[in-house]
Amino acid sequence: MTSVNLTIAAAPESACDPDLATAPWDFDQVPGYGPGASANDVAPPSAPRQGTLPAEYREAPEDELHARIEAARAELGSRVVVLGHYYQRDEIVAHADFLGDSFQLANAAQTVPDAEAIVFCGVHFMAETADILAKPGQSVILPNLAAGCSMADMADIDSVEEAWASLMDVYGTEPDADGRQPVIPVTYMNSAADLKAFCGRNGGIVCTSSNAETVLKWAFERGQRVLFFPDQHLGRNTAKALGITEEQMPMWSPFQRMGGNTPETLADARVILWHGFCSVHKRFTVDQIAKARADYPGVRVIVHPECPAPVVDAADEAGSTAYIRRAVTTATEPTVFAIGTEINMVNRLANEHPQHTIFCLDPTVCPCSTMYRIHPGYLAWVLESLVKGEVVNQVTVPDDVAADAKVALERMLAAKPPAASTSPVVEPVATTVA
Ligand code: SF4
Repeated sequence: MTSVNLTIAAAPESACDPDLATAPWDFDQVPGYGPGASANDVAPPSAPRQGTLPAEYREAPEDELHARIEAARAELGSRVVVLGHYYQRDEIVAHADFLGDSFQLANAAQTVPDAEAIVFCGVHFMAETADILAKPGQSVILPNLAAGCSMADMADIDSVEEAWASLMDVYGTEPDADGRQPVIPVTYMNSAADLKAFCGRNGGIVCTSSNAETVLKWAFERGQRVLFFPDQHLGRNTAKALGITEEQMPMWSPFQRMGGNTPETLADARVILWHGFCSVHKRFTVDQIAKARADYPGVRVIVHPECPAPVVDAADEAGSTAYIRRAVTTATEPTVFAIGTEINMVNRLANEHPQHTIFCLDPTVCPCSTMYRIHPGYLAWVLESLVKGEVVNQVTVPDDVAADAKVALERMLAAKPPAASTSPVVEPVATTVA
């Protein structure tokens, strides 16, 4: 068996502009998410922007940046911890102390309470979560502030508050005879801190792609229905697995009156789905799965639950990034895997496991626009600034927001998700990256 090593540079007849790969600073002052999967998503005006990266970091060759990052790490020692999300480019992962998904990394930060700075090589909502869970006095740094998340940006606090008020008008505010609230708000981890806080204030909870089913069950014990944001696909796929029908899952479109619904369409709702999506995962299609099966009979198709429901239905398995990694690492026989998730993670799995044939379902190599904003130039800049005693690009969640958000996160932990999902187990990079 051979591994398939797709690279950005080798993108065949790509419809996805990979320009962020070499010079993401070219896009820091340009509105929008820049090239990559989210290129056509509309970024809200409030999305954080990155200031000008000093020229010495923009112009330095890759090997020089690598050496400067290493030198700064050596100088800072245990004063700093660097976290790398699975979707980061390899040049960044090479410097990470821990590799994991968003919640695993937030937990990883808690294992190093003496670190003064947590450098989060991921996206904005992840840095916010790390700050919520951080010890007093720890600074959380996002190397490029323009590394947001187009899906997280599809739900903002004003739109959610407005939807909530409309739903209270329809359903009232009183619990039923069993003490269940009319609506329980559930937010995906991929959301801004103020939405997690909204859930904390309103009897709601946070979920991850690993524990969404556990969390929905928790919510239905306490409520008659759920408002699920921002990812419609994770909400739909999870609710479907619990036997909830499409008719019981109306969509809430934030820019329409009553979310595009009427009291009648909302009457039988069990899960009200926010009109949000991940532009990385919506690229995967049923046709791609059919082609993979035709090309590789016996192929094992695994997709992320942020994919549309028909894709999840056509796959053999669906699961979080942690699930996908585990499926590959625990396969004892040489296996052909067709995977529907972010390309950097798929390429890394292919390189780490040459005994298997591993490829991305999408033949067009299209990275997450926002994850790709983190380039070694920014990492060198934030680390060398720390060496000089300067904290740049700090992400801070106001205390009142953090307190409410923590309530929703703690409810998630208490909901006892399945093992190895939101577990604080993290992967030291040395054991996972070749
Ligand atoms: S992969 Fe999708 S959900 Fe994850 S950061 Fe990128 S746009 Fe957001």
